[in-house]
Amino acid sequence: MSDVPRSHGRKSIRPSLRPRDLMADEVLAAAWQARIVTLLPDAFPGILGQSLSGTALRNGIWSLEVTDLRSFGLTRHRNVDDTPAGGGAGLVLRPDVVGPALEAARGAGPMLYPSPRGRRFDQTMARDLARGPGATFLCGRFEGLDERVIEHFGLLEVSLGDFVLTGGELAAQAMLDATIRLLPGVLGNAASTEEESFSHGLLEHPQYTKPAEWAGRGIPEVLTSGHHGHVAAWRRAEAERLTRERRPDLWAAYEARRSPLDRGADSQ
Ligand code: SAH
Repeated sequence: MSDVPRSHGRKSIRPSLRPRDLMADEVLAAAWQARIVTLLPDAFPGILGQSLSGTALRNGIWSLEVTDLRSFGLTRHRNVDDTPAGGGAGLVLRPDVVGPALEAARGAGPMLYPSPRGRRFDQTMARDLARGPGATFLCGRFEGLDERVIEHFGLLEVSLGDFVLTGGELAAQAMLDATIRLLPGVLGNAASTEEESFSHGLLEHPQYTKPAEWAGRGIPEVLTSGHHGHVAAWRRAEAERLTRERRPDLWAAYEARRSPLDRGADSQ
């Protein structure tokens, strides 16, 4: 593999990261490329090194390069942060530290900054990311990041939800997990991403497995009928019921997309 061209030129000056055996020494052209800038390089691959995403990493379906923000720190203390301009609590990551780190780390695909101020991450974004060549994640810490870095690099702020984490690492891993499982060859059964929640704008129907009776509860009869058409209709109806009950926002969008003809058929 030594004659495979590297996708970019500055690899040799990058801090190397553990666990080494999980990192791609050579970034294969075909691999979806995840790049992370973080103060906690040991947090990667973390959960992404396990199970399906871990196997996919070892199989070269995606690659991971982690850049240790600390190694770009200033002075011999490797300072990365300072007090907020204008006063107030906490510390802000310095642009003259994060900037060079992002320059060194950036690669194919968008540059994302996990942030509670961002657009809410969703399945559509995961699909868009999975279709591209990769992404670079800048993991914030402390009070966050000097705004000038966001502007300079055109970072896309993406939120995991309306709550505040201590850092962007878990958010980046969650977003990567959702993306990686959509890459071809990661899930054994590709059909499972077509039926699951959000794929048709609906939440998933209830699932059952063996035994047929548990704790006095059976399985809906239709599921054991062997009639595929009835099973499909039941699942669809349940998915619609759950979405209507739990997620009025998704339901409204789903209804708006359905043709008037479909809606007319329902009310008969
Ligand atoms: N002071 C900031 C929060 C900083 S939390 C604010 O009020 O907006 C520290 C870091 O954690 C952030 O820089 C971001 O990278 C990450 N983070 C926190 N909450 C997040 C969320 N809901 N989604 C994505 N990233 C988040």
